[in-house]
Amino acid sequence: MIIGVLAVQGGVAEHESTLDELGVEHRQVRRVAHLEGLDGIILPGGESTTISKLLELGGLLEPLKDAIRGGLPAYGTCAGMILLSSEILDTRADAQCLSGLDITVRRNAFGRQVDSFEAALDFAGIVDPVPAVFIRAPWVERVGEGVDVVATVPNGPAAGAIVAVRSGNVMATSFHPEVSGDTRVHEYFVDMVRRHTS
Ligand code: GLN
Repeated sequence: MIIGVLAVQGGVAEHESTLDELGVEHRQVRRVAHLEGLDGIILPGGESTTISKLLELGGLLEPLKDAIRGGLPAYGTCAGMILLSSEILDTRADAQCLSGLDITVRRNAFGRQVDSFEAALDFAGIVDPVPAVFIRAPWVERVGEGVDVVATVPNGPAAGAIVAVRSGNVMATSFHPEVSGDTRVHEYFVDMVRRHTS
């Protein structure tokens, strides 16, 4: 199995080391040719408008969209969630999305008071609560048919906000499991890829 890590901007290395910990082979995706032969792809956090622009400039936007539409399992964290969405609120007019998930997301949704925070979340499919680090994170304001809500914020001012979703082979989290030292969300994705591949 080989998992791609989109590497045009953002927190690439943390996903690579998490995959290393799990013993999963991975490859950086910077150009269209790097999509060849992948079993899954991770879209890291970073700045979604910058990633969108770089995907367009590099000619990777449409091929990546096609690959995901064609069934390539994908997991987006934070900016990666924004990119996988089908509608983005509070973004630049020219920002593009991949429409891998029928969801509407709001960028930087948690506001200035709680720019960055941590929470322990119940995550459907993972037994004990998952530590979640949020950094200028989006939340999900609408989920389309067939999209499952996998985790919400348990308490505080943003209680109930949807922060993890899945539809078929595509999943996304508002938070960054790759910085928490807990590998279970990545394991969840790797299992999903393994099931798809076999
Ligand atoms: N606020 C960023 C954006 O809009 C996302 C932040 C992140 O990925 N940690 O793209």
